[in-house]
Amino acid sequence: MPIQWFPGHMNVTKKAIIERIKEIDVVIELLDARLPGSSANPMLAELTGNRRKLKVLNKQDLADPARTEAWLAWYRAQSDTGAIALDAGETAPAQRLIKACRELAPHRGGMDKPLRVMICGIPNVGKSTLMNTLVGKKAAKTGDEAGVTRIEQRINLASDFYLFDTPGMLWPKITVEKSGYHLAASGAVGRNAYEDEDAALELLASIKGSYAHLLAARFKLDDVDAIPTTHDEVLLETIGRKRGAVMSGGRINITKAAEVVLHDFRAGILGRITLETPEQFEAWWAEGQAIEEARRLAKEARSKAKKGSRQAAQEEAWLAQDEDDESADADAEVDANSGEAGQGPSADH
Ligand code: GDP
Repeated sequence: MPIQWFPGHMNVTKKAIIERIKEIDVVIELLDARLPGSSANPMLAELTGNRRKLKVLNKQDLADPARTEAWLAWYRAQSDTGAIALDAGETAPAQRLIKACRELAPHRGGMDKPLRVMICGIPNVGKSTLMNTLVGKKAAKTGDEAGVTRIEQRINLASDFYLFDTPGMLWPKITVEKSGYHLAASGAVGRNAYEDEDAALELLASIKGSYAHLLAARFKLDDVDAIPTTHDEVLLETIGRKRGAVMSGGRINITKAAEVVLHDFRAGILGRITLETPEQFEAWWAEGQAIEEARRLAKEARSKAKKGSRQAAQEEAWLAQDEDDESADADAEVDANSGEAGQGPSADH
């Protein structure tokens, strides 16, 4: 079943971002390098409009380097967009971050025109870790100043470079079914929004083609060439058996096997894996948009039909009313006539 995820509170965040964006020169979007497309929030693109953007692919230490390069190139080909890759292990990411932002907004700089940057990212993408690294190593934290609400933070990465944290929480918005599973696999979606078994099966489906050798090495699977065409359920069972997730009677404990697969992926034990390429994501996105559009049209048609049937019912009611009125008139006429007739005989008495 596709993952449904409605964490709410997005309207507050939306308003706060709209308010803040007016005085921002560059928007940094922190993405998970293992799932760059799926870890982006499409709403952010709407809110930030034609602002200059820096895509930061975080957790690059866990991602496939070749695919990270492909994603960076894909982002850099977009207008007013820069892209760099980072990881928490990097001790001084500030210089690279500052340089990339300055390149995007060369018209800003100096004390009278400081470069104002906002950093956004869905939960678990590593924003706190990065902010802490920035604060710890390079910057002075200045939160809680006039005009800055308590949930916002400004850190000065240089005397003319202000970095603002996103006001509010930027939750993922799942418009692409595959993205939901990739977000679940990465740990960005609430635990009760999905079953581990579904998430593990989808994860295996996404990686068995390109990363069969990593699966074979980690789970001691014999026939690496057969992995890409092995059914996901069979693959999960085999992994369960290899890892001793066996219940009494010899049945495989699938829940346990799923936990192992998810854990090993999240912790990077499986190896450096990126779940999606730009081309794949583009195709899923187009598909997702088409489904959303079809849904929107169906909803519109339903509400039109509802309105139509309400109108029809109303017209029917009016017609019925007219008929009632007419027959009441006719009755009254008959009554009136029969009254005259009736009066006649009685008058006769
Ligand atoms: P936030 O919700 O965006 O603030 O995410 P956190 O900063 O709390 O990070 C979520 C998890 O990802 C934590 O377990 C971090 O240690 C881990 N993490 C963050 N950045 C990196 C990174 O670049 N590489 C790796 N391997 N782990 C990271």
